[in-house]
Amino acid sequence: MATEIRTIGVIGAGQMGNGIAHVMALAEYNVLMTDVSQDALDKALDHIRSNLARQVGKGRISEEVMNAAMGRISTTLALPELGQMDLVIEAATERESVKQAIFEDLLPHLKPDTILTSNTSSISITRLASRTDRPEKFMGFHFMNPVPVMQLVELIRGIATDEDTFASCKAVVDRLGKTAASAEDFPAFIVNRILMPMINEAVYTLYEGVGSVQSIDQSMKLGANHPMGPLELADFIGLDTCLAIMNVLHDGLADTKYRPCPLLTKYVEAGWLGRKTERGFYDYRGEVPVPTR
Ligand code: NAD
Repeated sequence: MATEIRTIGVIGAGQMGNGIAHVMALAEYNVLMTDVSQDALDKALDHIRSNLARQVGKGRISEEVMNAAMGRISTTLALPELGQMDLVIEAATERESVKQAIFEDLLPHLKPDTILTSNTSSISITRLASRTDRPEKFMGFHFMNPVPVMQLVELIRGIATDEDTFASCKAVVDRLGKTAASAEDFPAFIVNRILMPMINEAVYTLYEGVGSVQSIDQSMKLGANHPMGPLELADFIGLDTCLAIMNVLHDGLADTKYRPCPLLTKYVEAGWLGRKTERGFYDYRGEVPVPTR
């Protein structure tokens, strides 16, 4: 039987983790969020509060709903406490060793029916699941950024994921008022399999001098009707995440067409990761974003 989810643990309080906590609390789930630093948790709560306040300002939710949602979110530095949750969504840094270590540490503290999921953009769900004691209760729960705004959630079954687990996660997506798309477990699933090579190609277009940051973004906005240019979008996603996904595609599909652009690697090596570090293909430290090339 599908487990009814009431409590949700979120691991990683970065841009995705805080968005996930936000929408879950609004949907009346009790949320327990963890990270490696208290600072990250404090910042996440501030973020959620200001994003909810924006929704109040726009008349989408009332102040009472906002306060009730904030009241449903707790934080802890102790990962084991998340073992008591019905559903755990791991949204830590996109590095397989980080995610594996988290699941390894959490395993001894899990109640038997807890469903484990990862918000990974690209890493094999089957491989992450195989290192746990419950591959049948493990799946991909992939939100899009920004979580409160984007309608889609990709649900990814690993090779062993059972139907009850899928049904429990699908019920959560339905309660959020979002739309679930089912994807098979191959590198980067559906959205990023298509999106990331396009972003990587935009970086190659810049690298080869075909266009400037501005002309590339403007071309795709006005010429292909994309709401954001690919470089602006890369900054929004995080260049480290983009590079990590390209590496997963390159390694997992063993095709040179997925090789990450050296310029993308260079930005990441510089620590210019996009909006989250205030510099990427654009510099965000001033009033308006200024192209860095
Ligand atoms: P982020 O860098 O904003 O946040 C990652 C957070 O994880 C940080 O707060 C970090 O302190 C924390 N963390 C690192 N190690 C940890 C550990 N051992 N335990 C607990 N917390 C830990 O990254 P993000 O953009 O929020 O991405 C998180 C995940 O979501 C990644 O798997 C990424 O691929 C995926 N994702 C990202 C996007 C996007 O557009 N950025 C979209 C969909 C999915």
